[in-house]
Amino acid sequence: MTPGPRDLPSPRARAEIVVDLDAIRSNVHTLKAAVAPAALMVVVKADGYGHGMVEVARTARDAGAEWLGVAVLDEALALRAAGDTGRLLCWLGVPGEDYLPAIEADVDVTAYSVAEVDEISAAAAEAGRAARLQLKVDTGLGRGGAVEADWPGVVRAAAEAERAGHVRVTGVWSHFACSDEPEHPANDQQEAAFTQAVKVAEAAGLAPEVRHLANSAAALTRPSARLDLVRCGLAAYGLSPVPQQQSSADLGLVPAMTARAQVAVVKQVPAGSGVSYGHTYVTDRETTLAVVPVGYGEGILRSASSRAELLVGGRTRRVAGRVCMDQLVVDVGDDPVSVGDTAVLFGPGAGGEPTAEDWAQACGTISYEIVTRIGGRFARSHVGGVAG
Ligand SMILES: *Cc1c(COP(=O)(O)O)cnc(C)c1O
Repeated sequence: MTPGPRDLPSPRARAEIVVDLDAIRSNVHTLKAAVAPAALMVVVKADGYGHGMVEVARTARDAGAEWLGVAVLDEALALRAAGDTGRLLCWLGVPGEDYLPAIEADVDVTAYSVAEVDEISAAAAEAGRAARLQLKVDTGLGRGGAVEADWPGVVRAAAEAERAGHVRVTGVWSHFACSDEPEHPANDQQEAAFTQAVKVAEAAGLAPEVRHLANSAAALTRPSARLDLVRCGLAAYGLSPVPQQQSSADLGLVPAMTARAQVAVVKQVPAGSGVSYGHTYVTDRETTLAVVPVGYGEGILRSASSRAELLVGGRTRRVAGRVCMDQLVVDVGDDPVSVGDTAVLFGPGAGGEPTAEDWAQACGTISYEIVTRIGGRFARSHVGGVAG
């Protein structure tokens, strides 16, 4: 039985994001059980997908996540500064990156090319200790990672650096392009290419601790891709990585983020009143408008205009007209909505409010973007989780 979402404290701020760390804890347990015996990396890049990197990291570790993953070195160093000491992988360097502090902080860094292996080796020589180095192969995403033709050279350079004592090659990994479409033929092709790339690495004498390929969608839908370790971001936050096929609830996941705001203005208007910029919404009867003081300055997508819904006065209602920088308007009809009432943009859904996935569909995007973008002037707080 999946624990349900908890009751949140009464709203305090004009606009607030409340993150339920107990939901994240529950999701980490669910994922660990689903992927065992593979280990779990919880991906906390981009401020924990908008949920708070340090708070999520602490909760994930406490719930048993063996690894954390971030994109950039600054994120890795911020986790170390916050006291995290566990296995931590970082994967997005740029030329001239200063790897020294990450090597000293025992962060696993990633190389895609011979040039990066060389840069990391040089930094390790300066640090006077071996860097923990992972190698990324591009098996078909067409983004980061060494392409097949360059892979043997990268592997050879890493093996040499390992023999010289500058690096310890701890991992070999890759990333899917289409794992949110489990039937897509690219998934099988990438998995086969990865198996081949691992063989090349092993033939060169490398003995990585972890081989990993799966993000949330693959971890949940492709047992063959779990290998030694899976890298889960979205699912740890309680959102479905395959929303066309399975909801959060189907997967036993609890969305952790609730976004809500206080109704700032309520007023009666006659039929035929244009609402918000451009008058793209015109009232068809005498009605009540409620102004909610959040907008694209807080990362509410402008594509939510006249499409996304909020829970206000006990019912879901659509945004009326355009989302502005600081506010949006909802047509609440004849219902008795008052200034100070709570408007819930999205949450776990258990109280009848829309979910981040509903917002994603309304805005023509993915739930990743909804939760990662929202922020700005929202006050963010955390409930549940570990103390300190
Ligand atoms: C962001 C990211 C992940 C996490 O993906 P989800 O779909 O959120 O699970 C995993 N691996 C890499 C390389 C990433 O950049």
